[in-house]
Amino acid sequence: MPLTLASIRRAPKALLHDHLDGGLRPATVLELAEACGYDELPATDADTLGTWFRDAADSGSLERYLETFAHTVAVMQTPEGLRRVARECVEDLAEDGVVYAEVRFAPEQHLNRGLTLDEVVEHTLAGFREGEELVAAAGGRITVVCLLTAMRHAARSREIAELTVRFRDRGVGGFDIAGAEAGYPPTRHLDAFEYMRANSAHFTIHAGEAFGLPSIHEALAYCGCDRLGHGVRITDDISVPGAIADAELGLVAKYVRDTRIPLELCPSSNVQTGAVPSLDKHPFDLLARLRFRVTVNTDNRLMSDTTMSREMLKLVETFGYGWSDLERFTINAMKSAFIPFPDRLKIIDDVIKPGYAVMLG
Ligand SMILES: [Zn+2]
Repeated sequence: MPLTLASIRRAPKALLHDHLDGGLRPATVLELAEACGYDELPATDADTLGTWFRDAADSGSLERYLETFAHTVAVMQTPEGLRRVARECVEDLAEDGVVYAEVRFAPEQHLNRGLTLDEVVEHTLAGFREGEELVAAAGGRITVVCLLTAMRHAARSREIAELTVRFRDRGVGGFDIAGAEAGYPPTRHLDAFEYMRANSAHFTIHAGEAFGLPSIHEALAYCGCDRLGHGVRITDDISVPGAIADAELGLVAKYVRDTRIPLELCPSSNVQTGAVPSLDKHPFDLLARLRFRVTVNTDNRLMSDTTMSREMLKLVETFGYGWSDLERFTINAMKSAFIPFPDRLKIIDDVIKPGYAVMLG
């Protein structure tokens, strides 16, 4: 089966790093803004608004990129807004052939109209369940798990960690911290991570995106994260003087590879925020060849104007990957998911392997 956008869309895909507030449909942003009286959007029609989001995100700075979220977060402050965005997220991912997704968002950013943290999570989870039911009713299949994010510049991470554990049996799979990296090292939130570890709960940390190796080292050595959000700057600890096979790894890079720490790589987003200069310079291929546990992710589908299938196609076009590579990246992601081991295995055996067997012919 030739590798095209259409054929990749039919292949089963697993997504670990996708932001709920970074994946809205432009038309939904407009309609929700109208419904809740938010009048600060930079455009009045869906096409122009979609283009605005992409262009603003293309500026090459993480700080500027993060500004675009003021608009999406503004229309996600009501039960209806949260439910609809969550439901449509599930429908859009399923439409793209994603069979398993972990979608994250920061509940603390959705309290402007009086909802409590618990209510924000409840409405969002209800939207995810509605989306799953709609997909199932239409003959599709998708499992969506929610991750709760704390903002690294704020001081609510312990509270959000507790919220994560409180909802662990109701659709929340793990915890994360996100936001501007420079000046806000993960160790600022040590008590939150200690709480997660004490409760045998999973977490990932955005680290090694805008900021270098020290951020990754802290996330692993002091915070004890299960996965790295992005982690592209792990390359600061790898030198390749000649052939890739002779690459020299420093202690942190060795640790990441030896312990199979999953890297949640987001090719388009990493280029947009300036974490890597261009797609052909993205270390995805180097890390894949060195057998790090690499995974393909979307990060923010609206800001990057992307989908899982498009991210995979870009990698295929840039690095020449085939179906067996895409299958390996997908199994990498599924192995690294924050759901019980038997459930991961079931999706790998029942959905992913048979799906790629068809593609491989
Ligand atoms: Zn992210």
